[in-house]
Amino acid sequence: MNSLPVRLLAGAILIALAYATAADALPEHSPVPGGVAVVPLPAAATGAPTYRKRRVMVARFGDERFAIVGIPLSAKTGAHTLHLGSESVSFPVQDKAYREQRLTIKNRRQVNPLPEDLERIRRDRSEMDSAFRHFAAGPAVTEFSLPAEGPISSPFGLKRFLNDQPRSPHSGLDIAAPEGAPIAAPAPGRVTAVGDYFFNGKTVLVDHGQGLVTMYCHMSATTVAVGDQVQEGDLLGRIGQTGRVTGAHLHWSVSLNDVRVDPNLFLRSNNAAP
Ligand SMILES: [Zn+2]
Repeated sequence: MNSLPVRLLAGAILIALAYATAADALPEHSPVPGGVAVVPLPAAATGAPTYRKRRVMVARFGDERFAIVGIPLSAKTGAHTLHLGSESVSFPVQDKAYREQRLTIKNRRQVNPLPEDLERIRRDRSEMDSAFRHFAAGPAVTEFSLPAEGPISSPFGLKRFLNDQPRSPHSGLDIAAPEGAPIAAPAPGRVTAVGDYFFNGKTVLVDHGQGLVTMYCHMSATTVAVGDQVQEGDLLGRIGQTGRVTGAHLHWSVSLNDVRVDPNLFLRSNNAAP
């Protein structure tokens, strides 16, 4: 017998199996500000964990479920708490000292925007924020390939001074490459924003599911549209120097539960079994 209900049931079981597929590897456990905590969940807990009121990624590895938690650069050291319905699980956040970086930006308007720029900056911010805050159900992506080839010209987390004025710490990783070089998706996902922003220039955001979102900035050209489904290796755009830059490079941000974290922690070469 192969009635419609039976086929629907078989389909549902297949989908359930796909969602339960174990991750090949988990991100590097680095419970520091700007890092990622890989927290084993109690076997009895079945609910969706939250951290700072946002849902967090859950990945299976072997027989265990792990919460994959993005920790903000502004986090204080000490015990942090994941909520799981009426239960809670705590994990320690340790200190990490990030280096300072001083940059000179020739276009002073990009350091101290004019009043008429502020409306655009607010619009840009709200478009990026809504992409970062989105939580799409589905299997957990836990590994990335590098989206561009070139030396790391600026690591994640540097405390930044622009023309000697303190600014937000560096929320991504910079890869130096010649203008026009390709930028490729580091994992499957869906394009959720394509913009030309005041600070970030031509930018693409890709949603990989479960609150994992990546952002590509300062491009000379974007080659995808909102809604496009991309696979690992698909072209997103080309290296450029649009927005606030000191030269051609890719600024790559990785966001987890709306927190910008060190992209290195998701790179395939760094990942391992817990
Ligand atoms: Zn950067």
